[in-house]
Order: sequence, then structure tokens, then C-alpha cells
Amino acid sequence: MLTIKRDTVVYAMSADNAPAAHAGSGDTILFETMDCFSGQIASEADSLGTLDWDRINPATGPVYIDGAEAGDTLKVEILRIDLAPQAALIESPGSGVTGLWAQEEHTKILPVEGGMVTFNDRVKLPVRAMIGVIGTAPAEGAISTGTPDLHGGNMDCRRIGEGTALYLPVNVPGALLAMGDLHAVMGDGEVCVCGAEIAGEVTVRVTVIKGTPLPLPFLVTADAAMAIYSAPGLDAAAEGATQRMRAFLTDAAGMAPHEAGMLLSLAADLRICQAVDPNKTCRMELPLSVLAQMGYCFP
Ligand code: CA
Ligand code: CA
Repeated sequence: MLTIKRDTVVYAMSADNAPAAHAGSGDTILFETMDCFSGQIASEADSLGTLDWDRINPATGPVYIDGAEAGDTLKVEILRIDLAPQAALIESPGSGVTGLWAQEEHTKILPVEGGMVTFNDRVKLPVRAMIGVIGTAPAEGAISTGTPDLHGGNMDCRRIGEGTALYLPVNVPGALLAMGDLHAVMGDGEVCVCGAEIAGEVTVRVTVIKGTPLPLPFLVTADAAMAIYSAPGLDAAAEGATQRMRAFLTDAAGMAPHEAGMLLSLAADLRICQAVDPNKTCRMELPLSVLAQMGYCFP
């Protein structure tokens, strides 16, 4: 299996990034990933002040997928996520939503063992491993790995986990897939700007689909299909996710526009992925049980 080492990273998604490796459609690839701090928060004595900010949000890659051309879709099946034994997070004044009230900065180191994240002496949380940053190169320019947009990137969608399929746009030859910023657990919103930030290994299978049969980025989990959309504000992100899922129902699943809107209102859940990054991200989740009744099958 092709392995991309965790010292092969980019800090922006761009067509100008030299490929770390080539892979073919149908190949399985293991991405070793650093945490979003590049391992610089190793103890509770470490703080934002000691960080080298040029090493924030490393994304391992990019991998050039042979045969992927602009206008195609890259299906990334997330087969397995393995996590390091320790996660870190920081809350600080002025950062994110909870930073509105934070009086001073605090760092927490969280042991991750036996499927549980130890938060403190009293609270343990089940591991819910997810990928914060995953995307392809945009058609033009370079987009920081800290920013989510139509190419994917820092979407911080907690549903992007093991056993899911993420569909991303191919904007440039080879797609240039990169990923990082794993979280051992994170709530919708990511309100202190951190999940349980952790290094790890992600095993994926990549498949090139000709054309664009879905609104992208698009995620299919074991129980739901979801359109993901990022925009400068939460209102626009929510509208975009709704518009994208409505377009999926009309264009991909062949539903009349008025029924698509009505069905979303009854059966779909509009959720916040994160409310703290340079673009905010929302998703609209439609149960697969609804799509199964319509006879729709994903590519
Ligand atoms: Ca993130
Ligand atoms: Ca993160």
C-alpha cells in the first residue's frame, strides 16, 4: 500500500504543489498525519505563544491521482483512522466562540486509550475520530489549509470519519488530494476552535468518477447523505448547504423542485460543522432511508 509520510506536508491547497506521490483510481493509500499544531503542543506548559504559526494545519500530501481531470469527481472512501495516544487542545481569549468569554489561555493534554478520550478526572468521552482538513487543489490560486471552501479544506465536519465516502471536486489534473487535522472527538461548531487535536493515520481508497454527478463537497455516511458548504457567515453557509442538497434531489435524484424543498423541510437536518474558521461550514443531512425509497444509488 502506498504510504505518504507525515513529513510530506503542505500548508495551502494549490495546483502549484509538487505531488508527494502518484496513485491510480481504485488504489488504497495511507496518509500519516500530524496534528494541527505539528506536534508543538506536547505538554500543558506549551501555549499559543510558543507556537511557530508557520506550521499550523499541515496537510499530508498532495497525492496526484492518475487519470483525474478537471471536471471529474474524486471519491475518497475513508476505510480506517488510527489515532496517536494523546490529543491536545487550547482555549484562549479572542479565539472562536468561547473565546468571547475566556479570561486566560489554557492548554489541555488528553490521553486517548481504549476508545475513550479522558477529558478530566470525572469526564471521559467516546472516541469519534474525524478528519478536519481534507481537500483537493482549487482551480486557481492557493487556499490556506486553515480555510474551507468548495475544494474541501478545513471543513471540520465531524461526520467525515471511518466508513464514510467523501466526494471532492477535481479542479486540476491529478486532483492533488491532501489531508490532516484529525480530531479524536469534536462537537458540532468546534466552538473553542479546537477538537481533540491529534496525529494519526488515515487509510483511504480513491476512485475517479467522470463528470460531476453530485454537488461537491458531498458526504455519504452509514445513515445519511450530506451536502457541505462553506461561506464567510453561518447564514450563507446554511443557505448554501440547503441549496446544494435541494440541487442534489432535483438534478441527481430527479425530484420536482417544489417537492425537493418540502422533503428537505420534513426529513433533512441542517447542522453546523464549524463556526470558527475563516469560512464557516454547514451541512444538510438527508437520511439514506429516504433516498432508498426513491431508488437512488450513489456513484
Ligand atoms: Ca480544523
Ligand atoms: Ca483542528
